[in-house]
Amino acid sequence: MYAIVAPAIQGQFDSATLPQIKKSIELLGFEKVYEVALGADAVAWEEQAELAEKMEAGVPMTTSCCPAFVNLAKMHFPQIYENNMSTVVSPMMALARKLKKDHPDHGVIFIGPCLAKKQEAMESFTAVDYVLTFEEVAAMMIAKHINPAEVEAKEEDYPSIFGRNFAQGGGVGKAVAQVAKEKAMAAPVGVYADGCMECKKQLTLMKFGKFTGNILEGMACPGGCIAGPAVIEPPMVAKGRMAKENIGNQKTIEESVESFDFTGVPMHRK
Ligand code: SF4
Repeated sequence: MYAIVAPAIQGQFDSATLPQIKKSIELLGFEKVYEVALGADAVAWEEQAELAEKMEAGVPMTTSCCPAFVNLAKMHFPQIYENNMSTVVSPMMALARKLKKDHPDHGVIFIGPCLAKKQEAMESFTAVDYVLTFEEVAAMMIAKHINPAEVEAKEEDYPSIFGRNFAQGGGVGKAVAQVAKEKAMAAPVGVYADGCMECKKQLTLMKFGKFTGNILEGMACPGGCIAGPAVIEPPMVAKGRMAKENIGNQKTIEESVESFDFTGVPMHRK
């Protein structure tokens, strides 16, 4: 079994660093733990290419990484779901597909702050076997007497800071803009919808042709995944710890995508 951890896990276990958190999860019995932010870098790379085509055609696009936002569009704005929503899978799904492609004999468990991901993992195109929340994993660590802050660990397979920032509201749009910058292409105008009400408002504007940007980033939880329903720490505490730990991470998205090779991994829903 592999575990894949959502970017929002950074800063969730007191002073434990990401390598310490990953190692602690391995001690629960997983063969290896990967950051979903590696999948987020690949998604941003792919989503920018899709957005560039849409910009050329004068059509706005929405993100597709928050399953609650995706379902909101699917149920209440079906035309936008069909015509404007990015067809790129979520970072969770992209990384799970990559691991299943390389190791078809392994299972993949996603660990995140989100209940909607439990539903996404049951979609017909899924590569994820099970979904656990941070709360559930914290309970397992307590039962096993594992204190992540005391575990010895070293960093490996790390993503860019942009992939890690998918955890925070506005982070997806910034990552897509970063890809455009790295490819020396036109910068997209991003609009961030913070929470369900704002998502609904922006989708309504898009439905009636009044949306003002190129890309709408929709997050059902106000503040993004660091404010998801199963986080352990207050969002501002986690945000501060993330900023501190990510100082010094200079990796570009291109470097991340090249180092953790997604070649041949199907990146689209359809
Ligand atoms: S914003 Fe909330 S509902 Fe959406 S993926 Fe993050 S935790 Fe899940």
